[in-house]
Amino acid sequence: MRRRAFLGAAAASAALAGCEAAHDGIEGGFTGIDVRRGHALRDGAWGAASAPDAARRTRVVIAGGGVAGLAAARALRLAGIEDFVLLELEDTAGGNSRAGEVHGIACPLGAHYLPLPGDQAPEVQDLLEELGLRRRVAGRWTYDERHLCHSPQERLFFQGHWQDGLLPMQGVGAGTLDHYRRFSARVDALRREARFSIPTLRAGIAPALLALDALPFETWLAREGFTDANLRWYLDYCCRDDYGAGAAHVSAWAGIHYFASRHGFHAPGDDDGEREAVLTWPEGNAWLARRLAQPLGDRLRTGHVVTRIADMRHGVEVDAVDVASGSRVRWQAERCIVALPVFIAARVVEGAPEQLRLAAEALRYAPWLVANVHLRAALADRPGAAPSWDNVIQGSAGLGYVDARHQTLDPTPRATVLTWYRPLGPSRWDGPDARRRLLDRPWTAWRDEMLAELSVPHPDIAGLATRIDITRHGHAMAIPAPGWLARMGAPARIRAGRLAFAHADWSGYSIFEEAFTRGHLAA
Ligand SMILES: Cc1cc2nc3c(=O)[nH]c(=O)nc-3n(C[C@H](O)[C@H](O)[C@H](O)COP(=O)(O)OP(=O)(O)OC[C@H]3O[C@@H](n4cnc5c(N)ncnc54)[C@H](O)[C@@H]3O)c2cc1C
Repeated sequence: MRRRAFLGAAAASAALAGCEAAHDGIEGGFTGIDVRRGHALRDGAWGAASAPDAARRTRVVIAGGGVAGLAAARALRLAGIEDFVLLELEDTAGGNSRAGEVHGIACPLGAHYLPLPGDQAPEVQDLLEELGLRRRVAGRWTYDERHLCHSPQERLFFQGHWQDGLLPMQGVGAGTLDHYRRFSARVDALRREARFSIPTLRAGIAPALLALDALPFETWLAREGFTDANLRWYLDYCCRDDYGAGAAHVSAWAGIHYFASRHGFHAPGDDDGEREAVLTWPEGNAWLARRLAQPLGDRLRTGHVVTRIADMRHGVEVDAVDVASGSRVRWQAERCIVALPVFIAARVVEGAPEQLRLAAEALRYAPWLVANVHLRAALADRPGAAPSWDNVIQGSAGLGYVDARHQTLDPTPRATVLTWYRPLGPSRWDGPDARRRLLDRPWTAWRDEMLAELSVPHPDIAGLATRIDITRHGHAMAIPAPGWLARMGAPARIRAGRLAFAHADWSGYSIFEEAFTRGHLAA
């Protein structure tokens, strides 16, 4: 272990041991996801084989009410098809894009931002126009300033100071700067060689992409001579941020796609804040999910666990359990849009088609933990860059925090909620036991880990925290591991008989644009 990492780890464990008792006054617990519902499905406890209590008819059943399922519902409505139901396991729709609140302050339980979509994502652009977020003014596309992330957007706690931006800059040498520039040039060259696109289904599968897909990002970086520790930390952070797993566990395609599909990699001196603009809300992407769910009325059935989907000769049968009443309903429909995570779809679709079986075999999921901590007053801060929307602590297991009050126009320091993100996919921090740890550890252990980490820049955080709500995402997102593109390609539509499949999983990684476009196209 390097000396700084050793000292950091020693300080963190001392803080953990010493502070546990001091944290006992902080309320909290697990919230947001009912782990038992999913596990009951896995264990067969919903009685998939039992006879239904009632039968109903509809034209289309959408199974799963995450962004993909909600996008499918919107697309059906746009096509004039109003006779459908959407069945969702949790008590609210939105999946990974849901929100909560702590002491009346809204905060995300998962996804919290959407970068401005490019022209490869016309479906998402169209949604943003419908919601009034994107408008053409004097011939130019503009976005609603209230929802564009306000400045300052990002800062990094590095070498005992807060610095602007996330790329380590404070006191780095000429060698590091040279690696930044070379990496930036390499990304640009790859962008000229092959098409990178969001959504990926518009990129095609060029040989250059397959070559990148074949090896881990970390191996590719070593082969290309990108050995600088600061660059490597930053790239590993980016992989954990977007994919939930470290650079050794995602493909070089994924590592490059992160930059090449958007605006490249900005080396210092090549600064253009406009290009990295994102939309964000105190409640995160639930702002979008709620607006997608709102027009559905009673066609949206939350608390309904889909236990079986069978493509029959004359139609589709979809069995679901109403969690509140325990009753089983068999829906008979012309079609079903399966907007479930692939590993669940493979479990509930009878005689799963080949493509679904292949995808389920290939996919590995990164668990995630999201902690929302309510603070009764503003935090003291270390010197350097001002509090930002995204605040990252270099060299820590978590990805830092976003501040739910960042978008308010009222600058008075006051009570707020910080959302701390902790990916648990394979990385230098976590191994194959992470999902088990996520399930078994008491909430207080995560509380202490979070407070120890955030105490480094904010020594007063434990004294100001009143409540911590923790959401556990056991199978949060697909990891774009080496070989995914070669195995699955990037099919635009995934269909089998009367079933159409839609979920971000089908892109091999999870972001709003992938989920939304797949839901739209499936419908
Ligand atoms: C912690 C975290 C942070 C993220 N941050 C961002 C971000 O900032 N920006 C971004 O773009 N993306 C982010 N993402 C990615 C996010 O997953 C996608 O943006 C998007 O929400 C995925 O939508 P989906 O419909 O593909 O999947 P899901 O959200 O997985 O939706 C699937 C739905 O199916 C339901 N379901 C499962 N089983 C059943 C069943 N048997 N019966 C009925 N329903 C069932 C689930 O409850 C869920 O609602 C984040 C993800 C996580 C976990």
